Amino acid sequence: MNKERISAYLASLEPMDDPKLNRLRACAEADGVPIVRIETEAFLRTMVKVLRPQRVLEIGTAVGYSSIVMARAGAAWIDTIENYEKRIPIARGNIKDCGLDGRIRLLEGDAGDILKELKQSGTETYDLVFLDAAKGQYLNWLPDIVRLMHPGSVLITDNVLQDETVMESRFLIPRRERTTHARMRDYLYELKHDARLETSVIPAGDGISLSVLLDPEDQ
Ligand code: SAH
Ligand code: MG
Repeated sequence: MNKERISAYLASLEPMDDPKLNRLRACAEADGVPIVRIETEAFLRTMVKVLRPQRVLEIGTAVGYSSIVMARAGAAWIDTIENYEKRIPIARGNIKDCGLDGRIRLLEGDAGDILKELKQSGTETYDLVFLDAAKGQYLNWLPDIVRLMHPGSVLITDNVLQDETVMESRFLIPRRERTTHARMRDYLYELKHDARLETSVIPAGDGISLSVLLDPEDQ
């Protein structure tokens, strides 16, 4: 199977009938902002329609694209975290332009710190978490993310196959990418072996993992 041809074919099936999202995608791509791939966007939109989440937590806003996708798909409330100062005003502008500033709250700062603050402030749990930020930190953040979930909450993680290099031996990975490579493998191992979670890794887009937090009696 040729993954690039499958992706191109699947992308060609997308109606791309939301002019606002098309414009945002074109701008983000022109500026080199790493937004969700078209297949991943379709997956997210479908999951939001399946789950009908009241509260979503997104880690990695970039310019707001995936938040806007989830809000337009029906997510009632989204908290989204971003630490890159240059992108924050752009994200705020895009969210406002779409009339979603009453439903999407942008939290500025390092996700590791904000996850801890959210827990300490006794915020309500989230029905859906979309993790799409610094790949090397996922495993470190997982305990705080799980604490912000309730049984039945879903965690979707993007880019878990790392451009299809995740299965390679570390010796085939450029030296500067080895730490992230090892950490992503550890993260996937943890998702599969943490008894509290049931996880499926889907080789669509750049690799998506789909996890659900189990009821204690099902663990
Ligand atoms: N979800 C977005 C794309 C996110 S790209 C979309 O699909 O539209 C990943 C983003 O995570 C980048 O903008 C990056 O600045 C941010 N990020 C990386 N590490 C972070 C951290 N430690 N805390 C907060 N944001 C972080
Ligand atoms: Mg991504």
